Amino acid sequence: MKLAGKTALVTGGSRGIGRGIVWQLAREGAKVAFVYRSDTESANQLVKDLELDQREVIAIQADVSDPESAETVVGNVLETWERIDILVNNAGIIRDNLLAMMDLDQWQAVIDTNLGSVFHFCNAVVRPMMSQRHGRIINISSVASHFGNPGQSNYAASKGGIEGMTRCLAAELGKRGITVNAVAPGFIETDMTEDIRNMAEGEIVKKISCRRLGNAEDIAHATAYLASDEASYVTGHVLVVDGGLTLGGL
Ligand code: NAD
Repeated sequence: MKLAGKTALVTGGSRGIGRGIVWQLAREGAKVAFVYRSDTESANQLVKDLELDQREVIAIQADVSDPESAETVVGNVLETWERIDILVNNAGIIRDNLLAMMDLDQWQAVIDTNLGSVFHFCNAVVRPMMSQRHGRIINISSVASHFGNPGQSNYAASKGGIEGMTRCLAAELGKRGITVNAVAPGFIETDMTEDIRNMAEGEIVKKISCRRLGNAEDIAHATAYLASDEASYVTGHVLVVDGGLTLGGL
């Protein structure tokens, strides 16, 4: 119960990696609020499952790309629990296309959802965290920002932006007791990767030194560590969790 007494806010929490993170933080003793976009059924099911496990959890419907959503969501959580110790910026989308074919909507949707939301939510939590003199911000990036994947210029730009922001915020907030880190997952089995898994799972697994795809729990454990008091001297770091995908050896 590393996170007993802590409160957490996770974006994109109703499925995939976010759902795994919500479970892990709750299992470690945190009260967890999560944001979901539209799948009320999955969000309600997750709340039910966690409550059956005696966990305290709140689901909040919001579009994280909307600049006003963060203030509203953070306000709701503060009204209920009075503090937010942990923010996990997890919500993300892909809209892959070669740059020559990419339209402005594909560019903007990815930048607004993946990067804009990190700005909005960090902006909304830093003042309360500064008054608490304690906070943990964990941004979910991607190894795609370290590769040159054709068709992912919008996604890589958003995740590269997250990593740069993580370092700047870490430099700004360390003296206030707030750490800011990123987790860069490799290839994780979720809805986001379903199409590419269907096309090339065997080829991908051969490139991963652990010889398996990652799962949401792999990312959730890394996130829970960065959220814990044990990680109080780790800040501005990008923790790659990819089973060795980016080692790049022969
Ligand atoms: P997913 O598609 O299963 O889940 C994404 C979540 O984000 C969903 O809950 C979705 O509702 C939410 N979301 C998207 N847009 C939103 C919006 N505008 N408002 C509110 N919520 C919104 O994907 P996932 O694989 O679980 O991805 C989670 C994070 O991990 C993303 O940031 C993704 O970029 C990152 N990531 C995933 C992988 C992978 O292999 N799956 C690898 C590297 C990084």
